[in-house]
Amino acid sequence: MILKESITNLNGIGAERETLFNKIGIYTIEDLIMYYPRDYQDRDKIIKICECEDNTFVYIKAKIMKKPEIIAKGFLKIIKTVISDSTGNIEVVWFNKVYLKNALKEGNEYIFWGKVYKKLNKLTLESPEYQHIDDKNFIGNSILPIYKSTKKLSQKMLRNYIKICLDNYLDCIEDYFEEKFLKDNNLCTKKYAIKNIHFPENKESFFIARRRLVFEELFFTQLSLYIIKGDNKKTNNNFKFNDLNIEDILEKIPFKLTNAQNTVLNDIIKEISNGNLLYKLIQGDVGSGKTILALILSYLAIKNGYQSVIMAPTEILATQHFESFKNIFDNFNINTVFLTSGLKKRDKLKTKLDIEQGNAQMVVGTHSLIQEDIKFNNLAMVITDEQHRFSVKQRNDLFKKGCNPHMIIMSATPIPRTLGLILYGDLDISIVDELPPGRQKIETYYVNSSYRERFFNFILKELDKGRQAYIVCPAIDESDDLNLNSVIEYTKKIKDSYFKNYRVEFLHGKMKSNIKQEILRDFYNGSIQVIVSTTVIEVGINVPNATIMLIENAERFGLAQLHQLRGRIGRGKYKSYCILVTDSKSKVTKERMKAMISTDNGFKLSELDLKLRGPGDFFGTKQHGIPDFKIANLYKDIDILKEVQKSIDLLKNNKINFNKLKDIAEKNILNTFQL
Ligand code: ADP
Ligand code: MG
Repeated sequence: MILKESITNLNGIGAERETLFNKIGIYTIEDLIMYYPRDYQDRDKIIKICECEDNTFVYIKAKIMKKPEIIAKGFLKIIKTVISDSTGNIEVVWFNKVYLKNALKEGNEYIFWGKVYKKLNKLTLESPEYQHIDDKNFIGNSILPIYKSTKKLSQKMLRNYIKICLDNYLDCIEDYFEEKFLKDNNLCTKKYAIKNIHFPENKESFFIARRRLVFEELFFTQLSLYIIKGDNKKTNNNFKFNDLNIEDILEKIPFKLTNAQNTVLNDIIKEISNGNLLYKLIQGDVGSGKTILALILSYLAIKNGYQSVIMAPTEILATQHFESFKNIFDNFNINTVFLTSGLKKRDKLKTKLDIEQGNAQMVVGTHSLIQEDIKFNNLAMVITDEQHRFSVKQRNDLFKKGCNPHMIIMSATPIPRTLGLILYGDLDISIVDELPPGRQKIETYYVNSSYRERFFNFILKELDKGRQAYIVCPAIDESDDLNLNSVIEYTKKIKDSYFKNYRVEFLHGKMKSNIKQEILRDFYNGSIQVIVSTTVIEVGINVPNATIMLIENAERFGLAQLHQLRGRIGRGKYKSYCILVTDSKSKVTKERMKAMISTDNGFKLSELDLKLRGPGDFFGTKQHGIPDFKIANLYKDIDILKEVQKSIDLLKNNKINFNKLKDIAEKNILNTFQL
């Protein structure tokens, strides 16, 4: 197919330019056509020179007042001139574009667009693009696309080639949607959309084009997910619970449930008593006490003769769950077992057998649980903790261990509504929106590394009082990235200096599991005072005596992740402190750090992060398994998503069309999701 041909088929793209295009991910003509602008400039908004302000993007219609001159500064050649409109003059400079000296004619009028800076109290327009006012060949309309680009690949060049492609190949683009579907969903054709996403005729056509492309993107993402998940809509409930009394277990729990916990629990119990199959996301900020809900629900399943399983993303967290479940379940002679890859072969075999034969009623574990050879006897309750750390497929694989069991998903990472809808669709959401009593507000500070001595002293004071501290670094060792603090080197440095009177150990995901366990145990029991760690401690860990969370290179982490890390402290009766260290001067970083200080609402933080950094970075990594979107925006496009979901439901009645689209989605699945 022509669209798959290399861009070198285009006039003027040789090996050198090809490399530039490759750099931004463009190899074929199709890639180029699908290379949507990252932004637009509205050239309707021409402003007067007297209105120019520092650090703003401007359009100016002005005359060249002076023949451009070239000033050499070392290797740099600066091309300089002055332009003027009826309201004033402004200096214009370009760098190294010597040809401009002759290209720009004194006395001619142009439109210039670029950024204005103020230096030494003087405004200068820097490296603007320009266009002669009589130039009829202007690409695009009054709205001009701006593409993500790379050095030496100018906007002009990109626009030019995209324009050429559209002129020659637009007709080759296939529309996956039928005419009727387009009409029913109020969508324009693909051709119109592509053309107008690059060069919108006007604002309205841009919105029409964008809506179509966002719809399509969300449509196939959502459809792929339906395929992965299967159509596991609520089906028959194979697991009816007759005994719903929880008084006995509540007696063994060392605290009183919060109102929020009670509400969620009662809602769920009511659903069970109505005979419904549970398919539920329990969302609650870090520390809101979700584990105990998992425990109580497991208890109900077990009490009614079934098995229950809870899967956690790290061995550390799974161990912790195992211990707290076992502690309470031992009172009821419930056999609680633990399954991770770290087990000795013999123990593992025995555990597997116990699970298969039903001797193990409560099963706690990590990813190991979803291995093929793990079989359950009578699994009625499937719980995934810290859901965002698992892929859709992993969660589903666990679900399939039972015969349509009840499913509970727990997450502390607040998921923006759009993402939640994509991932979970028709899942019910219950929110634990209250922290247990007596928690103190965590104080958060944001400093640069020149304060190190001071905050180390502060940490020492806490340690002297008997408290403990976490220090988080983004890298494991120096070889990861020289510019980042790394767990191993950092530990070496502080062990024998600042913290020489205390036991300091490091922890990261690549360590042997028994050593990790040992270190965590020693941290629990207080014989280690400082843990220097990667984000492996991010989820779930619960050491109430720890009051310090120091995060180095804080700019490296997503807000949701920082919030999770901060959630490791403030879990006991002592006042806790989170110190964010960053030397980044970027505006976005500053804004993000300030947000951390000003709110402890995880939902707000995650929405803000999505806005500032985009979904790709949402969880700090891409563990959630949702692709980067080319055009859809999880923050803005929730309405379109809802329409997409409706349209998919309706489409199911039209088998032929549905299967056709499913085939297309299926082909893209492997690229779209990390499976
Ligand atoms: P998360 O929701 O982050 O998973 P956890 O379940 O780990 O939170 O609970 C955090 C801490 O709060 C644990 O030490 C737990 O024992 C405690 N906790 C939970 N519920 C209550 C409650 N109702 N009253 C007092 N402490 C509670
Ligand atoms: Mg938890």
